[in-house]
Amino acid sequence: MTVVTDVVCPLCGSVCDDIEVEVEENKITKVIKGACAVGKSKLQGHERIKSPMIRVNGVLKECSYDEAIKKAAELLAKARRPLLYGWSSTVCEADKVGIALAEEIGGVVDNTASVCHGPSVLAIQDVGIPCCTLGQIKNRADLVIYWGSNPANAHMNHMKRYSYISKGYFLPGGKKDKKLAVVDVRETSTSKMAELFAQIEPGKDFLLFSAVRAVLMGYEDIVPDEVGGIPKEKIVTLANMIKESRFFITFFGMGVTQSRCRQNNIVNAIQTTRAGHLHTKGAIMPMRGHYNVNGFNQVCTWETGYPFAVDFSRGFAWYNPGETASTDLLGRGECDVALIIASDPASHFPADAVKHLARIPVIIIDPYHNPTTEFADIVIPSAICGIEAEGSVYRMDNVPIRVRKVVNTDYMSDEEIVERILEEVRAIKEKEGE
Ligand code: SF4
Repeated sequence: MTVVTDVVCPLCGSVCDDIEVEVEENKITKVIKGACAVGKSKLQGHERIKSPMIRVNGVLKECSYDEAIKKAAELLAKARRPLLYGWSSTVCEADKVGIALAEEIGGVVDNTASVCHGPSVLAIQDVGIPCCTLGQIKNRADLVIYWGSNPANAHMNHMKRYSYISKGYFLPGGKKDKKLAVVDVRETSTSKMAELFAQIEPGKDFLLFSAVRAVLMGYEDIVPDEVGGIPKEKIVTLANMIKESRFFITFFGMGVTQSRCRQNNIVNAIQTTRAGHLHTKGAIMPMRGHYNVNGFNQVCTWETGYPFAVDFSRGFAWYNPGETASTDLLGRGECDVALIIASDPASHFPADAVKHLARIPVIIIDPYHNPTTEFADIVIPSAICGIEAEGSVYRMDNVPIRVRKVVNTDYMSDEEIVERILEEVRAIKEKEGE
């Protein structure tokens, strides 16, 4: 038995990197410390896809990696409007090759930000963002605000490692030195711990940000008696908590990005943070979900100039979410072949998009079965990044972290699979050119 330290959890955007595990006979047998319950479950693994498969007469039949990769390349090379979607639960190295593949075949490349924090990305492009690292938050933030997010259930180590419960250099007493405020549409495990909980009516976040911003800017008199179901008194209390803090942080989740007003909510949230700067220091940060959803946006921006939903059909990178996002393409029934990697759109996309996906040839690359594999035509199992393959990922605060390879595997990595598909596509095109 070997103890491996500094293992990185490849699950959520917190990217906890101080995990200790026991490895016996090339298997993680125990998570000693550092991981939350869901992180432990991911690290210890569950039922895997055993072999590559191709659907023949409606039934998935096992095949070799070579056969699956060749067939996938043939489908993609002849596609007229291919979509390459996912990329958030794999490493930046695979993302980079995926973007090259999209360019080669004139496809659309998009990641899961499209259906989670895409509005945050659009807002940041509009007005910028006062941000910082999670380390700064741990050491300095004496007021933590979670708005439309519930880390106690969704990012279980977040408060303990980086925010309300963590002990910091300037806040040695941990939560004794800090205040917690929560804005959400319902009571949650996080809101139960908060000093101030504002239970907002669904879809009213924009109004509440405006009201807090008005108070911070000295216009308390124009705020009505109630905004989004929150009494004025509570709004003034929240604004005063911000004014009196030495450093505040607002973490916002999909409760804000995917409700009415979408990116405009985030623009307003960012401007509210700036209004707080009239009184004190503070920052704002999206609670990114998948461990490398942020990494794809980084890599895609280096490679194409745009963070997601990039369309290469014109022969150059074209970006217009609302037209070029995966759900737009599928909703319009345009896409004729889809490569899905490290994600499960069948569980998360709108019904009309999933229906179209089920009608066209789908190639999926993933370590595990999920609802998308149920109708996929080519299934290619891959090594689990952070456990069986190494690579670079970006934490929710834009800090790059190297995930480790802890055990050996016969599965190919995502990067190798996509690289092989790209080589095959280039060979097919070269042959066609002759
Ligand atoms: S908080 Fe997220 S990254 Fe950390 S152990 Fe849990 S699932 Fe993994």
